[in-house]
Amino acid sequence: MPPRGCSRRPARPWHGESALHALCAESARLWPSYAAALAVPLHDSGTLLVGIDAGDRREVERRAALLAGLGDDVEVLDGRRARALEPAPGRVSSAAMLAQDRAVDPRAVLSALLTRLGARVVARAPVDRPDATVIATGARLPAPYAHPVRGVRGEILRLRGDVGLTRVLRGWVRGEPVYVVPRPGGEMVVGATSEEHDGPPVVTVGGVRRLLDAATELVPGLDRAELCEALARDRPGTLDNRPLVGPTGDAGVFPAAGHFRHGVLLAPLTARLLADAVEGAAPDPSLDPRRFPPPEERC
Ligand SMILES: Cc1cc2nc3c(=O)[nH]c(=O)nc-3n(C[C@H](O)[C@H](O)[C@H](O)COP(=O)(O)OP(=O)(O)OC[C@H]3O[C@@H](n4cnc5c(N)ncnc54)[C@H](O)[C@@H]3O)c2cc1C
Repeated sequence: MPPRGCSRRPARPWHGESALHALCAESARLWPSYAAALAVPLHDSGTLLVGIDAGDRREVERRAALLAGLGDDVEVLDGRRARALEPAPGRVSSAAMLAQDRAVDPRAVLSALLTRLGARVVARAPVDRPDATVIATGARLPAPYAHPVRGVRGEILRLRGDVGLTRVLRGWVRGEPVYVVPRPGGEMVVGATSEEHDGPPVVTVGGVRRLLDAATELVPGLDRAELCEALARDRPGTLDNRPLVGPTGDAGVFPAAGHFRHGVLLAPLTARLLADAVEGAAPDPSLDPRRFPPPEERC
């Protein structure tokens, strides 16, 4: 999502963006069978993209045109149609329906994966020499593989209440990017800030305030919701925003890292590509970890 106030970019993808979109689309196609195998619900009521003021409207239009240009199913709506679909938001100046967007609860996915793996998950390094070592330590990779990945802090809130929201709302409120994801049982996730930083990911007063201001202006009923949790995590960003999946050049060492904003979406595709890499398949060049040589090897 573009940073605050950045609305001048034309609605054309840059090369890396379309490569990333293609990966995301391929992984999205794998999600229904992946979710079924894990017995995790996948919510497919789509995402309503919305904006409040004139600047937000330009962001909605730019994003809608970009996604339509990349082949997504995008329907631009007037305010009346948007309200008929989703009455919970207050006044919106612009809206677009992204019907193919799906949502899943990442905690439910992780818990299902851990249950499936059972006793094979150990809290210490195995003593035997492994056939393959997969590096998947998030925003901080061990040396000598650390250099392509940096932490980009994201803060999110978990709220509880009944505001009658039936699908994901995503958009801009006076330039502030925000989304609200309703979950069964009344939980709502509000996110997400985005900030480059060197320290540990901590929840900040400013981050929480910006999220709450934007979310409550977008959905006024959230004012009465319970604020259950605020948390911060580092997204593992790379220089080209694409993950690192494949061989390192060191025998038996394979990163599955650098998934930045799309690690959940890209999980099934990553699992497949990683298994192929471990079995000796050539990596997808756009994900090849060797595309970022260590600093001393660069010209
Ligand atoms: C606020 C926010 C919102 C997001 N929203 C979305 C979204 O809507 N859709 C989406 O697809 N993605 C989203 N993401 C991105 C997604 O969460 C990441 O891409 C994904 O979590 C990266 O997965 P990972 O396994 O590389 O790292 P992590 O999820 O960070 O997991 C790394 C794990 O490794 C462990 N670890 C670290 N060091 C060691 C060690 N030395 N030994 C053993 N274990 C270690 C850590 O404790 C951690 O459990 C979001 C991220 C944030 C922060």
